[in-house]
Amino acid sequence: MVRCSVCESDLDPEKTVILEEKEQRTTAHITCPKCNSATMVFLSNNQAGILSIGVATDLDSSEAKRAFGRQPISADEIIDLHSMISEKRNELFKLIEG
Ligand SMILES: [Zn+2]
Repeated sequence: MVRCSVCESDLDPEKTVILEEKEQRTTAHITCPKCNSATMVFLSNNQAGILSIGVATDLDSSEAKRAFGRQPISADEIIDLHSMISEKRNELFKLIEG
C-alpha cells in the first residue's frame, strides 16, 4: 500500500496513472485525494518481494507522462535507484510499513 508522501493518507489506486510498466518495475503517478499532492511511485519486484517507494513531485500526471514520454528514465537513474534500494532496503521497508 502506498501512502501520500505529504499527508500520509492511503492513496487511491484508481487515481494511479501508470507512467511506465516493465516486467519487474512499474512507475506510477498518484494524486492524493485528500491534499491533492502528487506522488511518484516506484514499484520494484525482486527477490525480496514487492518494494514501493513514494516520492513527492511537483509534476501533475500529464506533465509526468510527458516527461516520461520525452525522456525515459536513464539507465544511470535506474541503477542509482536500484543500488539505493538494495543499500537501504531495511530502512525503506520500515518507511513503507510506517
Ligand atoms: Zn495527501
